[in-house]
Amino acid sequence: MRRVLILGGTAEARELARSLHEDARFTVISSLAGRVVDPRLPVGQTRIGGFGGPSGLAAFLTEHRIDVLVDATHPFAATISRNAARAADDAGVPALAVLRPQWEPLPGDRWSRVPTVAAAAGALAGRDGGRAMLTTGRQDAHEFATLDHWWFLIRVVDAPSGPLPAHHELLRARGPYTPDAERALLRAHDVDVLITKNSGGDLVSAKLAAARELGIEVLMVERPDRPSEVPAVPTAEAAYAALLADA
Ligand code: NAP
Repeated sequence: MRRVLILGGTAEARELARSLHEDARFTVISSLAGRVVDPRLPVGQTRIGGFGGPSGLAAFLTEHRIDVLVDATHPFAATISRNAARAADDAGVPALAVLRPQWEPLPGDRWSRVPTVAAAAGALAGRDGGRAMLTTGRQDAHEFATLDHWWFLIRVVDAPSGPLPAHHELLRARGPYTPDAERALLRAHDVDVLITKNSGGDLVSAKLAAARELGIEVLMVERPDRPSEVPAVPTAEAAYAALLADA
């Protein structure tokens, strides 16, 4: 029986946990950071909270006799991915990443690519004010806090704890969303600019179709670098197949 640790917090991680949980050849432990108050839990054994850096994760791998580490974290969770690569190396455990493909622009899209969320805020700072929808998540909303000449619709799962812009509305919601609902939301709030990370995947991509249809500009935050030494597959299905091939 192969023991697999999945670093999760994504739909792909939950899907892979389900496949492995139903397969008697594997024992699976899922790990969540504990950021979301009411997380969508994977099936099977789950632990919640940080490991205490790469050394803590390496110790966990050894202590729990993990045979394979799967980094199925969000494409923007750069620290844990770096930690995973280092811990796997230190503990002598093979690692695999699940990395969903990026979104690519389609005809009609008006994308401006920016390297970071802070750069997106910098781009808005240099413009006349307007109305922006912010979907980059709770942890980054503070980057926009000083932009008094902009109004923001801030969509988050849990309320941000840091400072927020003077003019905003907080919308607590969790995907998936439909293009019709996204179009209605962008229209109702008269949004000029949509700010999003290039997360990829289908769960929250309806906003891009809606922005395209309405001719709304998108500030697309590029992904951070990921450790190149960890081989990556694009889906949970492919990760399951790779684990089976090695079993
Ligand atoms: P991060 O900046 O890469 O990681 C910060 C620290 O959080 C890590 O050093 C680690 O603490 C802990 N951590 C992160 N993921 C963990 C996991 N799956 N299990 C145990 N500890 C974990 O991460 P983040 O961007 O804050 O994301 C946190 C979690 O939310 C991730 O699991 C990710 O999949 C999910 N998520 C993130 C985003 C996003 O936009 N960043 C979006 C959706 C979901 P220690 O060093 O103490 O081990």
